[in-house]
Amino acid sequence: MPSEARVYSYSAVLMGSPILLKLFEDNQPVAAAVFRLIKQQEDLLTVNRAHSQIMSINQAAGRHPVVVSPPVFRLIQRARAVSLLENSSFNFTIGPLVKRWKIGFQGNSVPPQHELQALLALTNPANVILNANECSVLLEKPGMEIDLGAIAKGYIADLVRDLLQRQQIRHALINLGGNVQTLGAPPHGEQNAWAIGLKKPFADAEAMIGVINVAGKSVVTSGIYERYFELDGRLYHHILDPRTGYPLDNELLSVTIISEDSIDGDIYTTLLYGMGVEQGLAYAASLPHIEAIFVTKTKRVHLSSQRQFRFTLLDDSYTLA
Ligand code: FAD
Ligand code: MG
Ligand code: MG
Repeated sequence: MPSEARVYSYSAVLMGSPILLKLFEDNQPVAAAVFRLIKQQEDLLTVNRAHSQIMSINQAAGRHPVVVSPPVFRLIQRARAVSLLENSSFNFTIGPLVKRWKIGFQGNSVPPQHELQALLALTNPANVILNANECSVLLEKPGMEIDLGAIAKGYIADLVRDLLQRQQIRHALINLGGNVQTLGAPPHGEQNAWAIGLKKPFADAEAMIGVINVAGKSVVTSGIYERYFELDGRLYHHILDPRTGYPLDNELLSVTIISEDSIDGDIYTTLLYGMGVEQGLAYAASLPHIEAIFVTKTKRVHLSSQRQFRFTLLDDSYTLA
């Protein structure tokens, strides 16, 4: 029986999230480079501090275009394209609503209907004008705000993977608080794959519904049980419905996407969340590069095809649909 390789874990808190890097060699310089990269990207993309490239765009809303770096411009181009898909539940101009609800932050409250209506008028992705020649971004209306919270962690996870590859690292895992990207599989492992837990909603942090086995893939989960608040017996979570301004409300507890690139995982968790199980499964089946796991409030686990992963159910209060 092959012996397990020794794991070296490095952790930090960045982007308001616990970050975990696993390597199979003691390599402080590489770990430091990874955390530096994440910090640099956070500084470019955050909307939780006064200064970043995204904040410069937001602060110039309704006034003038802002030139950003080419990689940030390409990320915005991608976010805008996905937001403009027909009936998309992904909307990167959701910022004014996110800022008003403050879900996951201090001071959250349920906004009155008329306020939500007014803010919804500031969330039309077609009102973001891109100029690819100069990499500039203009928000047409005052008060508009870009929020890359549903795509940036996936984008950054892929940058970390690319950095590790350039350093000749062949076996590694990076977890950006629910956004996992992997290089290869753990060396000498019995399974020849990583074992990534699918968290049990509203339970202990360690409790798992099941285990996802993958090698060299990304596993991203979006759920309603990590960032939320409760009021008068209702749960308000952080994935907002761009059509109503309220948290997305359907039969789902979580969506997990298995894909090559973590940016796809991040985008499609949000997009498929809004579709619900039936439409989401059909949509996942139409995209060869992504596969999905849906967990419903009735404790059913729905799997799309399983070309890139294996799933083992551990908790018998859940059933495989
Ligand atoms: P996903 O489901 O992938 O995305 C949900 C997030 O996207 C929401 O939190 C919201 O920000 C946004 N969103 C909501 N609805 C939609 C929608 N319909 N379409 C598109 N986007 C939507 N958290 C902190 O607590 N403190 C910080 O200082 C902080 N800094 C951050 C800096 C950066 C650069 C990033 C990327 C994140 C940061 N975060 C911070 C976390 C952030 O606020 C989100 O909670 C996090 O990105 C959500 O990731 P997720 O994968 O869990 O959720
Ligand atoms: Mg997402
Ligand atoms: Mg995400």
